[in-house]
Amino acid sequence: MKNKINAKTNLIGIIGNPVGHSLSPLIHNHLFELLNLNYVYLAFDVKPELLIDAVHGLTALGAKGFNVTVPHKEKIMGLLDHVEKNAQIIGAVNTVLVENGRIIGYNTDVAGFKKSIEESGFCTAGEVVTVLGAGGAARAAIIGLIELGAREVNIINRNEKRTQDIIDFYRANGIDNIKSIPTMHTDEAVRQSRLIINATSVGMKGYLPNESPISPEYFTAGMWVCDLVYNPLETVFLSEAKKRGCNIINGLHMLVHQGADSFKIWTKIEPPREKVKEFLQKNISYM
Ligand code: NAP
Repeated sequence: MKNKINAKTNLIGIIGNPVGHSLSPLIHNHLFELLNLNYVYLAFDVKPELLIDAVHGLTALGAKGFNVTVPHKEKIMGLLDHVEKNAQIIGAVNTVLVENGRIIGYNTDVAGFKKSIEESGFCTAGEVVTVLGAGGAARAAIIGLIELGAREVNIINRNEKRTQDIIDFYRANGIDNIKSIPTMHTDEAVRQSRLIINATSVGMKGYLPNESPISPEYFTAGMWVCDLVYNPLETVFLSEAKKRGCNIINGLHMLVHQGADSFKIWTKIEPPREKVKEFLQKNISYM
């Protein structure tokens, strides 16, 4: 790092368990260097039973903020002074700002996901969309799709109880155009959708990298296919969709936008998003 760390360096970080796989230190330290900001971003592996200590410790040490990842995204909500609307609806916080003695929680995954879909050229309004998965990434994508005006969002997940939990949670927040689709009806649901999103971990480096979460035979030319997995940049799910004439969107776009939005919350500076994308495109294969 070119920036010199000194007595005035601002601290930002990420807390998770595990946290060693996170690309956030790379993204943010690259931006601090690029914009010549006196900040440093560090990763902290925080065990669940030490979450309260970690939050108090970071704020006591004067950290400007931090990202939050698995398994703390939900639990941290009870430790904050305020949680903004999107984070409340999703039930998870991924970004914390410490300002004027207050600890405020945000979720930038929704806005990051929305930006990645909007910039792809796909118009979500009035469309039927299918989301594969019912974890944290799926929750963000579902809210993003509803906010972008999707007519209906189908959720397909191995564990159907988890899908029902999402539907119940969102219904309680007034959202009722979400449907649970049993895995045996995947073919039908996919064929009726204009956009299919993989929000499962299948295809990720280190976890089933040679597999697709659904049979590629369901893809038809002209469909839009998005993978939230960003490493590798082109998963089997995407390469099979491309072969069949689909438009594809990789997970790098969401990754960059959610990170850029967190960066803006902490520094109040709009970062050069395209430069971050270029940087990650060059470096991601080495991780
Ligand atoms: P998570 O909360 O752990 O959820 C994992 C999801 O994958 C669950 O729905 C799980 O199904 C499903 N799954 C796992 N193994 C499976 C298998 N063998 N077959 C079928 N389904 C399987 O994880 P997450 O935070 O949502 O992350 C999911 C993926 O999105 C990860 O690859 C992550 O890197 C990526 N992501 C990307 C971004 C971005 O900015 N691009 C942001 C967040 C996450 P069950 O419920 O049945 O277990």
